[in-house]
Amino acid sequence: MMDRLSQQADSSSGNTEFTVPGRFQNLFPIGIGAQGAVCAAIDTVTGMPVAIKKLSRPFQDVTHAKRAYREIKLMRLVDHPFIIKLLYAYSPQTTLRSFRDIYLFTERMDTNLSAVIGNPLDHERLSFLIYQMLCGIKYLHSAGIIHRDLKPTNIVVRADCSLKILDFGLARSVGTTFMMTQYVVTRYYRAPEVILNLDYDTKVDIWAIGCIMAELLTGQVLLPGTDHVDQWNRIITTLGTPSAEFISRCNQSERRYIETLPVHPRPQFDQLFPDSSFLVVEGTRTVSLNNQNARDILQRMLAIDPLERISVQDALAHPYVNVWFQEDEVNRPAPAPYDHAFDEQELTIDQWKALLFQEIQEIQGLTLGTSTSDN
Ligand code: AMP
Repeated sequence: MMDRLSQQADSSSGNTEFTVPGRFQNLFPIGIGAQGAVCAAIDTVTGMPVAIKKLSRPFQDVTHAKRAYREIKLMRLVDHPFIIKLLYAYSPQTTLRSFRDIYLFTERMDTNLSAVIGNPLDHERLSFLIYQMLCGIKYLHSAGIIHRDLKPTNIVVRADCSLKILDFGLARSVGTTFMMTQYVVTRYYRAPEVILNLDYDTKVDIWAIGCIMAELLTGQVLLPGTDHVDQWNRIITTLGTPSAEFISRCNQSERRYIETLPVHPRPQFDQLFPDSSFLVVEGTRTVSLNNQNARDILQRMLAIDPLERISVQDALAHPYVNVWFQEDEVNRPAPAPYDHAFDEQELTIDQWKALLFQEIQEIQGLTLGTSTSDN
């Protein structure tokens, strides 16, 4: 029987008790997300630093249960250096009847990207961060997953500027039956086509990366909309009114609204991001890592019309990014396609609970290779 250890971990949400196998030691809180508290720990068997996320009663409602199930399924599917990997999953309860908590163990990074914002980044660091985001997103797209909720807190980094995408964004069915009422979906990084209720595709993730790049550069959220309408107003006041052809593709109600607004000129990107926004380090070796190329890729990622916006493939080939190109990172074989039917299942809470329990039992058997007795 494996030792179990209950550790108190203070978190900003109060006191969260973590009950994890004894091989995980030195727990301390490092974050709080929509699903619960996150602690750092050391895996004394491998010596590896890990992050442990506690999902408290993940089946308390259908939204939480679906999200937990989707996250676990996806984490088991993916294998890419820039996407967080699931090392273990664990529940201290060993019967379905007593099942209550899930702990997810992942590789630990130093902090999330929002902690980096405000610190000046030179071109090498900035372009490397963008390269890794693009590779990670390309890989998710290759599995049929459009993230749709990329933001600085969903990306974790190390001091050496290596980065991993922490979650898999929103399920495809969000906005229909799976409207995540409890979860605050960040609006700032939301693409114009989503704001305008148009069809969307993988380009929504490029828009988000553009917004994140601008924020890394200036230390300020590029488009901090206070609501849906304000988000659109900020998009056009900052980036200019889109073409009449784009507006003609909008639905009637959105088109009518857009046409009531003043026309804003397209900005010059060298005024939006003047030389003073860049940290230029003397002796930078790579010629293509310059202010002009940084602005060029930003402008292409921040095209309001998704048909004009740069694709992931072309962004990875852009001179500001392709200096980092590595075949096994850019063109990693796609994982098995994700079956979106999982997200769309309409199950009762008890059915979700049984599915989650089964999933955890399976992972525990595979990874920890141990059995525990019930509490
Ligand atoms: P999450 O609930 O997964 O959104 O995580 C909430 C916060 O916990 C993140 O924004 C990070 O600050 C932190 N965090 C989660 N997982 C990790 C990890 N693997 N490494 C470092 N920090 C993490």
